Amino acid sequence: MSDCCSAPGLLPFESALENMLSQITPVTQTLTLPITQALNAVLAQDIASPINVPNHNNSAMDGYAFAIESLSQSNTLTMVGRSMAGAPFQGECKLGECIRIMTGAKMPTCCDSVEMQENAQVEANSITFLKEKELGSHVRNAGEDIQLGQQVFSQGHKITAVDIGILASLGVSEVKVYRKLKVALIATGDELKLPGQALNSGDIYESNSFVLRGMLDKLHVDVIDFGIIEDDFDSIKAAFVNADKQADAVISSGGVSVGDADYTKTVLDDLGEIGFWKIAMKPGKPFAFGKLPNSVFFGLPGNPVSALVTFHQLAIVALTKMQNARELKRTNLQVKCVNDLKKSPGRMDFQRGILSVNELGENVVESTGSQGSGILSSLARANCFIVLASDQGRVKAGEMVSVQLFDQYIV
Ligand code: AMP
Ligand code: MG
Repeated sequence: MSDCCSAPGLLPFESALENMLSQITPVTQTLTLPITQALNAVLAQDIASPINVPNHNNSAMDGYAFAIESLSQSNTLTMVGRSMAGAPFQGECKLGECIRIMTGAKMPTCCDSVEMQENAQVEANSITFLKEKELGSHVRNAGEDIQLGQQVFSQGHKITAVDIGILASLGVSEVKVYRKLKVALIATGDELKLPGQALNSGDIYESNSFVLRGMLDKLHVDVIDFGIIEDDFDSIKAAFVNADKQADAVISSGGVSVGDADYTKTVLDDLGEIGFWKIAMKPGKPFAFGKLPNSVFFGLPGNPVSALVTFHQLAIVALTKMQNARELKRTNLQVKCVNDLKKSPGRMDFQRGILSVNELGENVVESTGSQGSGILSSLARANCFIVLASDQGRVKAGEMVSVQLFDQYIV
């Protein structure tokens, strides 16, 4: 597959994404969790409110509750009782009377409005209102936030901290969610050492699995870490076989190019089906997607920036679908670029940018500088991707470009 704008032999980014998503089957198993354990889980049910929120008309202020009709006679009312949060006024009141009321306390049925205490003059039980009042002032009505029976969340919603608060406020203590995905992580490379180990000549520290692990934690999946696997056909094959038995998705980094020690593709061909291989994107041209007997496989490039970008732009989207979560909405803006950008037509670029507001109050983006796919610090300084279409050439300072803000998986 190719289109007008991709270099020959490269799969356009959008086709790669579409192709990959069409092969993803969402998980079906569900479980019931207490809401305290449900952060970031994906709801497997719709949730309708079992109550009105608030559950009763209540006061938004500390002050005095009264019937607006009483003020047609006089601005001075007689206080005949108290309504506290959790201890409502039980009695009756008549025209000309008011009730001392606290924030959150239930409105007495005989009252329809509240005046805050700062606007009231108090002499023993005689309360004089100093300002004009309107019907319903400072009253929070039952159901004004959420109504009984109203659908609050739907299946596929990822539960946030605020949502857990809302569920608690509805009195919902448990929710049905989809089971967590199990994702295996494999770093390939003879040169890789773990932090804490000594480096021999030519070695580097393994960093991809650390970045990916952090992002997978935010995605709310269980990670099975296979550590570092040497560049050897049998070792890689053994790791993939083992990972496939345990995980829903297997993610490797490194070994996907065409170098002499790049075994990922040959092992995949041996074990399963390889989806596609070279994508018209930069960074990240070599990316493999395929199917193992029990799992799906994402083969990320070894270069740290390429690994992160392909994981973020492709694998996370697929894993989100696998989780049954709603499609990710990423925020794209058109902004002025303050410097020239190098770009040759043929691949879609995800350059690292710093979005800020200039002295004129305009949103502007600046490149993080060198865009080498090994320069992980360029991602640490960036807050967005400058996304340049495949057919686009170099960008001149002052031109408008499209930026995609970093989402919760990167920041
Ligand atoms: P490869 O895709 O295996 O050819 O690797 C491309 C580049 O990425 C090489 O410079 C590798 O040393 C580097 N690399 C591969 N895997 C990792 C990793 N897990 N962490 C950091 N760098 C890596
Ligand atoms: Mg390698």
